[in-house]
Amino acid sequence: MAAKIIDGKQVAADMRAELKQKVAQLKEKGIVPGLAVVLVGDDPASRSYVTAKERACEEAGIFSNDNRLSEDTTQQELMALVDKLNKDPKINGILVQLPLPKHLNESEVLLAIDPNKDVDGFHPVNVGKMVVGEDAFLPCTPNGIIHLLLRSGVKLSGAEVVVVGRSNIVGKPIANMLIQKSDTGNATVTVCHTRTKDTAAHCRRADIIIAAAGRPNTVTADMVKDGAVIIDVGVNRVEDATKKNGYRLVGDVDFEAVKEKASLITPVPGGVGPMTITMLLYNTVLSAEKAAGLA
Ligand code: NAP
Repeated sequence: MAAKIIDGKQVAADMRAELKQKVAQLKEKGIVPGLAVVLVGDDPASRSYVTAKERACEEAGIFSNDNRLSEDTTQQELMALVDKLNKDPKINGILVQLPLPKHLNESEVLLAIDPNKDVDGFHPVNVGKMVVGEDAFLPCTPNGIIHLLLRSGVKLSGAEVVVVGRSNIVGKPIANMLIQKSDTGNATVTVCHTRTKDTAAHCRRADIIIAAAGRPNTVTADMVKDGAVIIDVGVNRVEDATKKNGYRLVGDVDFEAVKEKASLITPVPGGVGPMTITMLLYNTVLSAEKAAGLA
């Protein structure tokens, strides 16, 4: 039986409508959530991500503070801007678009962001709090996956989950979130990577597979148990002469074959992707509520 598609666009739209309502209620109390976006240089992909984030802010009623800096910005200038934004009461969230140009020290910049404004959830203070199960800003893509699963009615408690990939932005945090002793965790998690002896064998016994490897066809139908839930985080460009731009986007999962065995599956595009920006808005609103003593 073919799997039901998890419509990330719809879940993201629902969550954004809820956030918009919350922002309107906060405004009645004189609170306007604000997100500062910092972009250094002129990388076209980064520029389009930043524009999408700013547009999403506007649509939700969140104040968006745009900081576009030239490619030759110095470390000192960038650190001074972060310091200014840390002190600005109108700003509840600071997002520095990565990657930064090579001459800049990325980790120094991320460490300088006030953890109370770290809406990306990348600061070691928030990572540490997440790991020990304390209240923290959770990283956007993994948190988006949890919301997608819960809103699709997937039971996490007791589920066997295999995460393929161990990056700091997806694999490690999602594995950590899923093992927490909480309503959004309580799963049994295996993390696979390029040194794993037999990723297929681990996947075959999974109730839920989360693929975040950044390689097409990492998860194929023979690796999937009947009725498994498949979350495809990967975004890969593959050549496609039938497309105007010469390529199309695919995930890490062999979607067409795997959907015949799975019970639920996310498409690429339109699955996990729309959730990432949504969770950034979610964290910014949460930060504003915390600053006002409401959360
Ligand atoms: P990454 O930093 O490149 O990490 C990839 C991980 O996958 C590594 O841990 C690697 O293992 C592992 N891996 C690669 N091939 C494997 C294989 N054949 N079997 C088992 N493990 C394998 O990537 P990332 O930043 O986590 O991103 C992963 C994918 O998600 C990318 O396509 C990215 O574009 C996408 N992404 C999407 C969103 C979104 O919003 N939709 C957000 C973030 C990322 P080693 O550690 O051993 O090298």
